[in-house]
Amino acid sequence: MTHHKVIIIGTGPAGYTAALYASRANLAPVIFEGSQPGGQLTITTEVDNFPGFKNGILGPELMNEMREQVLRFGTTILTETIIKADLSSKPFALTSDKSTYTADAVVIATGASAKWLGIKKDEELSREGGGVSACATCDGFFFKNKEIAVVGGGDTALEEATYLTKFASKVYLIHRRDKLRASKAMQDRAFKNSKIQFVWNQEVISIDTQVHKTTQGMDVEKISGLQLKDTQTGRISSLLVEGLFVAIGHSPNTSLFKDALTLDESGYIRVTPGTTKTNIPGVFACGDVQDKVFRQAITAAGSGCMAAIETEHYLSSIGLVD
Ligand code: NDP
Repeated sequence: MTHHKVIIIGTGPAGYTAALYASRANLAPVIFEGSQPGGQLTITTEVDNFPGFKNGILGPELMNEMREQVLRFGTTILTETIIKADLSSKPFALTSDKSTYTADAVVIATGASAKWLGIKKDEELSREGGGVSACATCDGFFFKNKEIAVVGGGDTALEEATYLTKFASKVYLIHRRDKLRASKAMQDRAFKNSKIQFVWNQEVISIDTQVHKTTQGMDVEKISGLQLKDTQTGRISSLLVEGLFVAIGHSPNTSLFKDALTLDESGYIRVTPGTTKTNIPGVFACGDVQDKVFRQAITAAGSGCMAAIETEHYLSSIGLVD
């Protein structure tokens, strides 16, 4: 078992910023990359709202810069995923897919993941190249000149729909109500786009599929359409599409900590307001895993900084650093 003063879990903007400050404070942090190294920004294109990049920067490039920056100050990055966390006694014990580690302080920056509709096949088809996705930037290219649908009424749905019009011949925006949750600016942009057709008051109840042969002769099940239900009248209708993008929000990645830490009703880690302190002294949470309001790269980075400073104060208060 290897012991470290500080272990950080997750490598989005929150985790990397915590690592940056902790390494510059000589805490020799170890950061676990997890199953999505670089976090959600690695599946976006242009980031125009992170200060310091007047012409914008690509999401993966920004995350790579953050990675290089923490390496420069001596952070150890482990390409392992934590699968078990024992926070019941000190030092805390974290088990990865390779080994078990102990730590005096833990910073949780595990972020949030895209939600699925929960209907038969949506997540399976996304894993198996079946034409269902939660990331327009990653998969939009496969839908050149095709008719596709996006589900959701928030900023993500409208952003994805607008982006997808670069490839698709038509994008249906399916929303379960007749009012969007998205910001006015995003709505205006989407309403002006002649390739986007809004489908109001509809929920997707099932996905129709067809089996296609690949060039290697393998059978692949792909989406061929959707069954929709009118949320006002209950009427069922069909929509022919060759792709479906699910953009209905995110769930915090807190399953590892649900027995040890206090979570809110949506599963986000509760921190003492204005801090990154969880209900366990020495365990801190930053970024989207504790923030369902702002969820921005810059706010995540800010809370990562707070977590590192609070970690240093904590370690000092128990006599583990000067
Ligand atoms: P939101 O939670 O804001 O929106 C989710 C949307 O999906 C809602 O319209 C909701 O409907 C709908 N929805 C939820 N569950 C279902 C379901 N089971 N079936 C059908 N529809 C469903 O999530 P977003 O990911 O859009 O945004 C998250 C945060 O990130 C927001 O704060 C947003 O402003 C921000 N963001 C900012 C961007 C930017 O500024 N560039 C870009 C993207 C996101 P209903 O409205 O009926 O509840």
